[in-house]
Amino acid sequence: MNCPLCEAKSRVVESRPTDAGAGVRRRRECESCEHRFTTFERREDAVPTVCKRDGRRQIFDPAKVRAGLERAAHKRQRAAAATEAIAAGVIAEATRQREISSRRIGELCLDGLRDADRIAYLRYASVHKQLADLDAIRAELSEFDLEVVAATPVVEPRRDELTEPAKSAVFATAAAPTARTPAPTF
Ligand SMILES: [Zn+2]
Repeated sequence: MNCPLCEAKSRVVESRPTDAGAGVRRRRECESCEHRFTTFERREDAVPTVCKRDGRRQIFDPAKVRAGLERAAHKRQRAAAATEAIAAGVIAEATRQREISSRRIGELCLDGLRDADRIAYLRYASVHKQLADLDAIRAELSEFDLEVVAATPVVEPRRDELTEPAKSAVFATAAAPTARTPAPTF
C-alpha cells in the first residue's frame, strides 16, 4: 500500500480485527515521509448457510438457484427472459441473511415465476415440492385446466355442419390457440 502523500511504500504498524473477525483495520506508516494512515480490509459477501428441509446445512450456491429457474423455464420464452432478474432478486435476498431455508428460496423463485409464466411456475413447484404452496398450486392448476378446456373444442365439427355464428366461435378459438394448446388440425 503506497503512501497517499508521497506514493512511497508503507509498512503496517498495527492490525486490529473489526466486524467480529470479518475485517481488519491496519495502521500504516510511510517508509519515506513517515505519514501515518489507516486501511480497512473486509470480507466480501459473507455467504449465507442454507437450511434444508431434512435439517442439513450447506453453503448457499447461487448457481443452484439459477439452474433451478432455468430448468423450470426451459422452452418457455417469457420465463426464460425473466430468469436472470428473478435469480438476481433471490440471490440478493439470500445474501442479506446469515441463514435462509431452502423452502424460503423456493418460495422466492416461485413468486418470480408466477408473474412470468404459469407453466414454468408449476414445473418449479412440482420439482421442488413446495408443499406449503400446495393450495396455491391447486388453484393455479384448476384455473389452468379451465383455460385448456375453454380453448379446446370438445368435438371437432365439420365446417359445413355449422351455422355462421357457431363457426366463427369455434374456429376463432382454434385459430388463436394459447401458447400451451396445440392448434387443432382440420
Ligand atoms: Zn509518504
